[in-house]
Amino acid sequence: MSETVRLFTGDCTTKFDGTRSQTQRGTVVIVVKPDRTVLVHDADGYQPVAWLTRPDELTIEEDDAGFSIVAQAGEQTLRVVSNAKGRAWSAPIGAAGTPIGTCPDCSGPLVRIRGDVRCLDCEDRYGLPSGAAILDDTCEACGLPKMAVERGERFELCVDYACEGLADAVRDRFEGEWDCPDCGSPLSVKSPDGRIFLGCSAYPDCETTFSIPSGTISGACACGLPVFDTPAGERCLDGTCDHGSHATDGGRPFWPSGDRSSAL
Ligand SMILES: [Zn+2]
Ligand SMILES: [Zn+2]
Ligand SMILES: [Zn+2]
Ligand SMILES: [Zn+2]
Repeated sequence: MSETVRLFTGDCTTKFDGTRSQTQRGTVVIVVKPDRTVLVHDADGYQPVAWLTRPDELTIEEDDAGFSIVAQAGEQTLRVVSNAKGRAWSAPIGAAGTPIGTCPDCSGPLVRIRGDVRCLDCEDRYGLPSGAAILDDTCEACGLPKMAVERGERFELCVDYACEGLADAVRDRFEGEWDCPDCGSPLSVKSPDGRIFLGCSAYPDCETTFSIPSGTISGACACGLPVFDTPAGERCLDGTCDHGSHATDGGRPFWPSGDRSSAL
């Protein structure tokens, strides 16, 4: 979706009032982004001489004598007034992301912008699960890029969940794999609203649930649940478990030094 950026240049007086106050004069370029962010640039360096990010209010006036731009965010006010006519114009602007391939629908460029894959032309958009890494492979069914996601193990799937769902893959692999520590019933993979978690199959009699961390299983906890190797370190599936989340090679419980058997 291309939006509009407004650009102004000329000899201006810029006045900022807020946590500090400053006034500057010179020939500058003012960029007004679609989210109302105002940046005032002079000739030097990358940093604006003054700016206000996403102000609550923005008023722009233009006439034959020049222009004025007033942005206000709480106690902060940025006021840019041209001392001569100056120039003003608009241009299309859009989001920019890492190029990752070609849109199978329209052949436009696909980019990754934070947690989304987007086509810059047709605006197709695919939300990625947290921790997803885009792969060089494309999906044989639809032509979109594939991603790798770790939820207990590494899954390589189409970025379009309607084509290849992460919940289905996790369910195929881990349905009934572990038992509920509270009642002993098998844990079931649930995905009611896009979230994926393990919930006790005895629900509603037992309401035990565990979110599935991003990472791969590296062993078993003394509590019987798996230990995940996550970007933040190793942890039991049960984030509140204090049995010591120590991994083993063989997937069997490992007791750290000291007698932990009483914890069983
Ligand atoms: Zn497209
Ligand atoms: Zn696909
Ligand atoms: Zn249960
Ligand atoms: Zn545990």
